[in-house]
Amino acid sequence: MKICLFWHRRDLRIHDNAGLAAALASGLPVVPLFIYDSDILDHLPDPADARLTYIFDQVERLAQETEAAGGTFLARYGKPAAVLEALVQEFDVATVYTNEDYEPYATRRDAEVGALLGRHGVDFQLYKDQVIFAKDEIMTKSGTVPKVFGAYHKTFLARLTDEMLLPYGSREAFTQARLHALPPAAGPRPTLASMGFERKEQYVPTADLPAEDVVRQYHKTRNTPALQDGTTRLSVQLRFGTVSVRQAMRQAKALNPKLLAEISWRDFFMMLLWHYPNTATEAYDPKMRAVPYRNHEDEFSAWCEGRTGYPLVDAGMRELNATGYLPNRVRMTVAGFLVKQLFIDWRWGEKYFADKLLDYELANNVGNWQWMAGTGAVSAPWFRVYSPASQIEQVDPHREYVRRWIPELDTPAYPAPIVEHKFGRDRAVEALRKARQEAG
Ligand SMILES: Cc1cc2nc3c(=O)[nH]c(=O)nc-3n(C[C@H](O)[C@H](O)[C@H](O)COP(=O)(O)OP(=O)(O)OC[C@H]3O[C@@H](n4cnc5c(N)ncnc54)[C@H](O)[C@@H]3O)c2cc1C
Repeated sequence: MKICLFWHRRDLRIHDNAGLAAALASGLPVVPLFIYDSDILDHLPDPADARLTYIFDQVERLAQETEAAGGTFLARYGKPAAVLEALVQEFDVATVYTNEDYEPYATRRDAEVGALLGRHGVDFQLYKDQVIFAKDEIMTKSGTVPKVFGAYHKTFLARLTDEMLLPYGSREAFTQARLHALPPAAGPRPTLASMGFERKEQYVPTADLPAEDVVRQYHKTRNTPALQDGTTRLSVQLRFGTVSVRQAMRQAKALNPKLLAEISWRDFFMMLLWHYPNTATEAYDPKMRAVPYRNHEDEFSAWCEGRTGYPLVDAGMRELNATGYLPNRVRMTVAGFLVKQLFIDWRWGEKYFADKLLDYELANNVGNWQWMAGTGAVSAPWFRVYSPASQIEQVDPHREYVRRWIPELDTPAYPAPIVEHKFGRDRAVEALRKARQEAG
């Protein structure tokens, strides 16, 4: 019997899923699939990874829901092209459905998979699902890539309709009649142990939308890191697609325009990375590509471990290390400190965040790091150096947040500042000025 596969990637949900809805509407029996990509897993630094544990739990949940609805959920470990090639040889597959992914690795992978499936006479259908506007759907009036968020967001709002945020009916269509049950032999799924990993539990907020109160207050509470629910904590859910961006935007559109704007930064950065895939690893601004960063290893370790003597930086890094999360305002502080005060390459910080953040998202991470470093397509001015001492007065005036993470704060055990602010600032600004002049 001819079947189609729906390949889940960063959309670990059944409801409101564009590609899954298309597969279920195709008239062919559907078999959902997840591939644990060995190319990605081989690069995880630690055998106990909270993100992989989270993905594994979500895949198992999807599998249970699929089985409860009368279907089979396939999960495989390996290189996606090889896994798919084996599957189309094993089963009579007419089409592989999936949702678009705009990261450089993913676009290369999907081009390879599309060509391979084509050689086997299998159709490969991709759908826009994880953003509202993708690729070049929003351009400036003169047809160039938008590089000013304010202008981009204005167009975004002007073009955003309620219809665009309506959910796809994939949950309703997810029935025995549309799913396909394979023989049990197709069923065994990889376990964490079979892939060489261990469980690592870390707190992840539930896959629901934030409480309405949190959303209504968001613009007043978002810059107060001491508050546990000052922001939505949607980032992990959006990263793995357990919440759809349409759900999140629908709620934000109804309740808080500031939140809608923040979520659209995600579309914005994904759009920029799609246009400029090179910026995953190099400065967007050519004048910032040969900066003589100091890259002092001991100072980098002090930053990683939260021992810089700047309480907001240290509290942030300790929170990141302990929980895999950091509020946006503190991400900005620690990033600004690394690149401008210690004058260490933003890519070192980007990599450290990539290893630690539960919500690690290439487009958002690179986009924000380049913003803080003054190297990006959108950026803070290269000569702007934030002072952690004045930032703490703005965001944690009563030291509630920093005391939570630094018990020894008011004791002699807490280190003196690793660098004097004015000295660090002048050192970075001078070196950047020179590097930019030399770059012409
Ligand atoms: C140096 C640095 C690195 C970052 N790395 C990441 C990353 O790897 N993954 C990631 O998802 N976000 C990243 N961010 C953006 C932002 O800090 C997080 O999205 C946010 O803190 C997550 O918490 P929240 O869901 O409670 O956010 P909220 O403030 O409640 O925002 C809601 C959603 O809007 C989006 N959003 C908010 N702020 C931004 C932003 N500045 N850029 C892009 N999207 C945004 C996110 O999807 C977020 O979940 C980074 C920011 C900085 C300064």
